[in-house]
Amino acid sequence: MLETTIAGSLPKPEWLAEPEKLWAPWRLSGDALERGKQDAALIWLKLQEDCGIDVVSNGEQFRQHFVHGFLQHIDGIDWEKKTKMGIRDNRYVVDVPTVTGPVTRPKSVHGAEAAFTRAHTRHELKFTLPGPMTICDTIADAHYGRRADMAMAFAELLNAEARELEALGIDLFQFDEPAFNAFMDDVNDWGIEALHKAAEGLNCATAVHICYGYGIKENIDWKQTLGSEWRQYEAIFPALNESRIDQVSLECANSKVPLSLLGLLKDKVLMVGAIDVASLEVETPEKVASTIRDALQFVDAERVRPCTNCGMAPLPRDVAAGKLAALGKGAALMRDELKGK
Ligand code: ZN
Repeated sequence: MLETTIAGSLPKPEWLAEPEKLWAPWRLSGDALERGKQDAALIWLKLQEDCGIDVVSNGEQFRQHFVHGFLQHIDGIDWEKKTKMGIRDNRYVVDVPTVTGPVTRPKSVHGAEAAFTRAHTRHELKFTLPGPMTICDTIADAHYGRRADMAMAFAELLNAEARELEALGIDLFQFDEPAFNAFMDDVNDWGIEALHKAAEGLNCATAVHICYGYGIKENIDWKQTLGSEWRQYEAIFPALNESRIDQVSLECANSKVPLSLLGLLKDKVLMVGAIDVASLEVETPEKVASTIRDALQFVDAERVRPCTNCGMAPLPRDVAAGKLAALGKGAALMRDELKGK
């Protein structure tokens, strides 16, 4: 009960990449970089296990960015042809690469890292992949014409990748869809269908991570505009609950999402974010337990997996390690409390 896990990313050690940055430049190159990524993954596997994290991940130590880590290996994208695009419904304007032809996956993207990670932990192993809608919101389209069509094309590539990784021993795939709270109509029209395509034929568990983003300035400014209660999920949870995706990961720590909305996901396992990744303050175990306790008003304990709100990549390494320990201890406190009842 209350098996713990993390949303995905963890900070890179300072010898591997510049600390406390998204898109942090690597500090190694060539073979040294490949060995460095593996060493970093080993450190985080060990720390997760020591902290009592049940379902572990490699902390995304092998990729620079959660979307582009996958896209860099896909053909049909012109990385030189930059298009200015307001992403996440114009929350940030950035220069993004452009899809100029049919997208294809010439070879496995994450196979080597998945095999390496699998060889070094006996815990249940999660692997994160970007969701099709979020990919389409991070890249410009000069080929498909309809965003939904491009999403389906990427979903097919994700599916081929996931099937290959499942054969290597991955136990759970999580598709990261932070775009889900920016395009609620599209989620219902084609976003969930694209997820189904990405997860098609997998025998292992599947999850979707939705969130209001890291604690970076653009997100903090945007969150100011959302009012005191964030009810955007009300528009998508009914369809998500009907979906074939098994688990939903969402932020509950210091979140303005009313926890009563969890009641709309009554058939899903919920990864309850009990660690605030936008704060440098390390939660006490009691605080983590209290966030889980709040969620338990709306979800049976059998369906709760205590988790982080989002990835911890931009945090200082010590803070992230502290938060992992707090998560493990807080979940243990809550488990004891439930057993005592
Ligand atoms: Zn997130």
